[in-house]
Amino acid sequence: MSKSGGCLCGAVTYRVNGPLRPVIACHCAQCRKSSGHHVAATSVARSDIGISGDVTWYQSSDTARRGFCSACGSNLFWDGAGANLSIFAGTLDGPTGLTMAGHIYCADKGDYYEIVDDLPKADGYDPDLTTMVQ
Ligand SMILES: [Zn+2]
Ligand SMILES: [Zn+2]
Repeated sequence: MSKSGGCLCGAVTYRVNGPLRPVIACHCAQCRKSSGHHVAATSVARSDIGISGDVTWYQSSDTARRGFCSACGSNLFWDGAGANLSIFAGTLDGPTGLTMAGHIYCADKGDYYEIVDDLPKADGYDPDLTTMVQ
């Protein structure tokens, strides 16, 4: 299965050839600051994604960096230096065939919204959620 995606202006595109994880919402402060709300991310094995164009990387913590398009500002990737690369799900060209599977860092969510679905919710990081494969 092959899926494509990219930023708003089209300067950065990517192609995925492999399974994508179900989508997890992250409500941590870094995701909220960088996206303007919470993020929703899928994930793919690094060997299964090819990226074209210039991704700008911002080192957002000691252990992770975030990839965005410097021309249009789209947030595309979260790179925690593990075996997988997280892809912000909204940058995939549809239909994605993906579904939401849970929420992490709920304790850090913004106070202006509620999480109203019945999906699993973790106060912080949850490896069971973030390593699921679809
Ligand atoms: Zn762009
Ligand atoms: Zn986050």
